[in-house]
Amino acid sequence: MPAQKTQAIVIRTFPLREFHKIITFYTPDFGKVKAVAYGVKSAKSRLGGSLELLNHGTLLFDHRENRELQSITDFSLINGFDAIRADFTRITYGCYFAELVDAIASEGAANPEIFDLLQSTYQCLAQATDVPLLARAFELRFLDCAGYGPRLSRCAYCSSTLAGQLLAFSVRHGGMLCRQCEYRDASTFSMAQGSCELLKMLRKSELGGLNRIRASERNHRELKRALGSFIEYHTERKLKSLRFIERTL
Ligand SMILES: [Zn+2]
Repeated sequence: MPAQKTQAIVIRTFPLREFHKIITFYTPDFGKVKAVAYGVKSAKSRLGGSLELLNHGTLLFDHRENRELQSITDFSLINGFDAIRADFTRITYGCYFAELVDAIASEGAANPEIFDLLQSTYQCLAQATDVPLLARAFELRFLDCAGYGPRLSRCAYCSSTLAGQLLAFSVRHGGMLCRQCEYRDASTFSMAQGSCELLKMLRKSELGGLNRIRASERNHRELKRALGSFIEYHTERKLKSLRFIERTL
């Protein structure tokens, strides 16, 4: 299968010697694709400006299975998400979403849901009134698409229904624990029922409709802690862009 055409979003760029770049794309048809853009930093390059981080376009590449780096034939821009780039907070979160996809998604495994999620999140990011809330919705849905979504409606250990105003979230067991199972994980942390309901809402709501949802400071704190710990557990590290958000925004 040599020449392939697919939609793609640039999720990572890395310089390679003087004039080249290694680009990681996320595509609906091939999952993550890593490719070399030869001569892209020279003034004469056709591809020059189009291969910036977060750009969405149509990728033409020479596909060889079992080869670590593919070769880019062409990339024509569909959307550069300029409105995101004009705002420091939004572009910083945009980079975090790209880094999260790069950290968890695997190469060669097609997952069109992840591509659609990334693309629609970038589309909503420019207009989002509560950017951290959009980030929590992205994290939760991305974990769902990748098969790591937390259990929120029933106990993650015994599947019984959950009751009470204060619930226990267990990263190790993959979601909420009931009163009888709480003792199974000494590192659970408590979450108000309202925060758990909000998480369930983020799982189902249209991303464009998030501007109608109001989250309290406590909701924000609890959601960030739960999803952040969950992501750290699955990536086995703290993402650089997330550390940057915590330090500067
Ligand atoms: Zn239980």
